[in-house]
Amino acid sequence: MKKVISFDLDGTIVDGVYGNMVWLEGVPARYARRYSMPLEDAKKAVKKEYDSIGEAHLLWYDIDYWLKRFDLHVPIPELLDCYIDHIQLLPFALDAICALKERYTLVIASNAARIFVEKELAHTGLAPAFSRVISATSDFRMVKKQEAFFLRLCSTLGVSPAEIVHVGDHAVFDVEVPLSVGIDAYHYNPGGEGNGRTIQDLRGLLDLI
Ligand SMILES: [Mg+2]
Repeated sequence: MKKVISFDLDGTIVDGVYGNMVWLEGVPARYARRYSMPLEDAKKAVKKEYDSIGEAHLLWYDIDYWLKRFDLHVPIPELLDCYIDHIQLLPFALDAICALKERYTLVIASNAARIFVEKELAHTGLAPAFSRVISATSDFRMVKKQEAFFLRLCSTLGVSPAEIVHVGDHAVFDVEVPLSVGIDAYHYNPGGEGNGRTIQDLRGLLDLI
């Protein structure tokens, strides 16, 4: 008996452009101003610094760390608010969530830092639909959704792996990994190749579980 549906956020419920705007446009724009250089040069410099830490490190996800490292004196809420118009729901995500929340407890399980997740949920008006929001990096200090992440998610929610369903757009971190710990998982892959675990549209979950 399924009780909980866990959703990835970026690429599954929202399109993920927002994070790119903050990291790859917003931060470089302020860096360019701070060090009086052309924007294109600032983009290259900032990207090189990001790459020197790499996505396997928790600091890579930490906007406060980067603003301090670059000596940029911009309040984080102000930086994040500049790009909220780029937060876009993916097709049918709202319909699916409204229907599923009548029958299941819904949670978010994202890799993004909590501050980004909360901004995206608030802007789309979806925050009240989710009873728990978990950021792997901010809350569990884990950089990827690995086996330990999903086991901790279950214990945090007080459910067994058999009682939870996870859905997301990453074939490994949202599907293979949860399946390996006994969590029913589905791959959101609109327009892509499919198998029995692929859904083109989040509304498909209503028929699968
Ligand atoms: Mg994703």
